[in-house]
Amino acid sequence: MELTLDIATKWINLFVEKLENNTAELNELDTAIGDGDHGTNMDRGAKAVKEALAKKAPADLSELFKTTAFAMIQKVGGASGPLYGTAFLDMSKAAKDDSDLAQLVQIGSDGIKRRGQSDVKMKTMIDVWQPVADDLKSGSLSDDQVESALNSTKDMVATKGRASYLEEKSVGHLDPGSQSSAYLFESLVEVIGG
Ligand code: ADP
Ligand code: MG
Repeated sequence: MELTLDIATKWINLFVEKLENNTAELNELDTAIGDGDHGTNMDRGAKAVKEALAKKAPADLSELFKTTAFAMIQKVGGASGPLYGTAFLDMSKAAKDDSDLAQLVQIGSDGIKRRGQSDVKMKTMIDVWQPVADDLKSGSLSDDQVESALNSTKDMVATKGRASYLEEKSVGHLDPGSQSSAYLFESLVEVIGG
């Protein structure tokens, strides 16, 4: 499906709202296998995105993603800030001449992989981004699909990011960045319908 500015604006606003409402949950997940700041990081980014969008309404899809990317790069920090930032920045560039939703999410996923030197099965946000891109390409995305991608991170051994220091001890916990990415794509499902 074609992503419009209207749909994408609702999508990003809902993501911001979920990040603000789930800061404690994200911090809790990151406390188990990281340094406990993922919720605080993303909440800072969410507030920056909201402020930037209120200051200047984006003229098109590309501008919306660019504003989102810059706010996240500037305010989220940690490992996740540059990764989300790269995803949205690459999506912004691509949106100049292609607004296919599945394609854009794939480009975001590829950006994270490139920036993070990561791939699927490393217990990172890629374990949500890539399956979601695949599902969108097959023509359907539901909350269950997002949820099952998120849950798949539980049994994985982390081999990238801070959680990789724990090696086998990272097993049994959800990846925090996959949870924030699940909020992103649950927001999408809510806006476009399951
Ligand atoms: P930090 O680890 O610097 O404290 P955050 O806590 O904000 O940063 O974010 C951690 C999340 O970032 C992880 O749960 C994981 O999903 C994601 N992440 C970390 N490193 C990578 C990477 N190399 N590739 C993809 N995602 C990563
Ligand atoms: Mg952290």
